Amino acid sequence: MNLGSGIGSAIVNNGKLLRGSNNIIGEIGHIVIDPNGYPCDCGRKGCLQALHCINGLERRAGMPFAEMVTLAQRKDAGCRALLEQTADVLAMWIANMANLYNAPLAVVYGQMLDEWGEMFPLLEEKIGRYIWTPVKGNFAIKESQIPRDKLPVIAAASVVLTDALISNIDIAQTQ
Ligand SMILES: [Zn+2]
Repeated sequence: MNLGSGIGSAIVNNGKLLRGSNNIIGEIGHIVIDPNGYPCDCGRKGCLQALHCINGLERRAGMPFAEMVTLAQRKDAGCRALLEQTADVLAMWIANMANLYNAPLAVVYGQMLDEWGEMFPLLEEKIGRYIWTPVKGNFAIKESQIPRDKLPVIAAASVVLTDALISNIDIAQTQ
């Protein structure tokens, strides 16, 4: 899951990237969480990322994300409340996805985690409150250790390699 200027995710099952009927599976940023909420770039109202990505937070606070983090660290109650609310809502949706897919692992990365060091431990703690007990015992959340600027290239290459490996296996099985 990418937590940055938008919110997106990819879902991998048995080593294979799920694509969906229109190649857009995992667009969790456009899940509507408030039908009367903030307008989203997609034209609807109240999407998760309209409120809880970096762009949404900057619009709500009227300042750059880095400044919001600095103020929160200096005990500014308003900035702190906005950031903590975002960590809470994102933790709830990561837990919802884990519940829905019975997922063993969520990997998170993105500018929000890079610029706000408290984000990851807060997510870990808050997910514990939202995850369904039968899912919880087999679930972990990790922060990606791959540098963010290299991730798109590595991810794209791994999709191509996986597709090539799978198609070779399919070919081998039909021969
Ligand atoms: Zn949207």
